[in-house]
Amino acid sequence: MFPAETFSLRLRASSFLTTPMLTRGDAIGLAQMLVRIDSRNPSLVPGGPGEEAVARGLAETLAGWGFQVEVREVKPGRPNVIARVGRQGGRSLMLNGHLDVVGTEGMRHEPFGASERDGRLYGRGAADMKGGIAAMCAAAARVAGSVAGEVIVAAVVDEEYESAGTSGLLEGGVRADAAIVTEPTGLAIMPAHRGFVWIEVTLHGRAAHGSRYDIGVDAIRSAGLLLYELDIMDATELIRRTHPLLGHASLHASEIVGGVGWSTYPDRCVLRIERRTLPGETEDSVLQEVRDICNTIQLRRNDFRADVDLVFAQGPSDVAVDAPITRALAVAIEQEGYEARIEGMSAWTDAALLNDAGIPAICFGPGDISLAHSDEEWIDIRELERATRTLARLIEIWGSGE
Ligand SMILES: [Zn+2]
Repeated sequence: MFPAETFSLRLRASSFLTTPMLTRGDAIGLAQMLVRIDSRNPSLVPGGPGEEAVARGLAETLAGWGFQVEVREVKPGRPNVIARVGRQGGRSLMLNGHLDVVGTEGMRHEPFGASERDGRLYGRGAADMKGGIAAMCAAAARVAGSVAGEVIVAAVVDEEYESAGTSGLLEGGVRADAAIVTEPTGLAIMPAHRGFVWIEVTLHGRAAHGSRYDIGVDAIRSAGLLLYELDIMDATELIRRTHPLLGHASLHASEIVGGVGWSTYPDRCVLRIERRTLPGETEDSVLQEVRDICNTIQLRRNDFRADVDLVFAQGPSDVAVDAPITRALAVAIEQEGYEARIEGMSAWTDAALLNDAGIPAICFGPGDISLAHSDEEWIDIRELERATRTLARLIEIWGSGE
């Protein structure tokens, strides 16, 4: 536990005992440093160390680069780093990235080695998303002296589990006029992504000896009836709900558990479903659709009994392609001399929470999302540097209010 104010004072006094000082604005050096510090999310990986060490390392580096740094604990041993440069009063920009990484089982290279090979930096989190954090921090550092508005660098915990970091950031009152979430988009602008809803359906049957069709009710077969209807809904209805950047709404069965043995009618079966939602769909509307399907089945099978429960949900995110932040980023990209591609993001990100809080947030960052969570993860060093230069330009464009 280190309260924000005392920590920033202590930083100045301690003069960076634990972290070798990096040159101000060195994106590649910072990416390497961050990848070398294991920050596996302990809510996903039993025994994972969490973000404390990486947060301290980043906080010390940013304090050394002239940022005003706060370290705010969200849960024990799980601190967000909030670092500011520039001037209050102008347009403010938040750069947001998550410090946690997923597990390393089965990886084909040293997960925390941060080795460099063929112009790539290898390691867990290199793409998702310590490369993005390094780019955003280095970009802000490079233009800190000249920027007209305020830049808030938010390196947050726990995005890979339940986003306690960005939730805590918003609960703590941190706001900005717009935000970039530097998840790996391969330098495409991604202003929208889908949400998700986790639904647990408990099918109730009646236990009986396998010979007793007269009293047994098969809960697994009830799950089959529901799966059949869900399949039809996915193939006929959800496929028609589309978004220009995001494709269509969808669902899949995630898990099914039930049955006790060959000669017993199962009294219970639990079916877990994930529904990916488009802007406009809500967790309530999605739950109601599943309940309606259950009610329809019950009309023709009166022994069908199902409880439909919400387990967890995160909303979709949708910023207009002509919103000020999207346009400003496109200008920054063009000034850097490459094509501004606007695409949909496949995965969910913290941008949804920022948007919900009234901060228009879009995704843009270095790295290939398909390498995230995979057995080989790396980031292209030239792409990392290009992202840094683009973000530095964006900070200037945004701050000048063009
Ligand atoms: Zn990520």
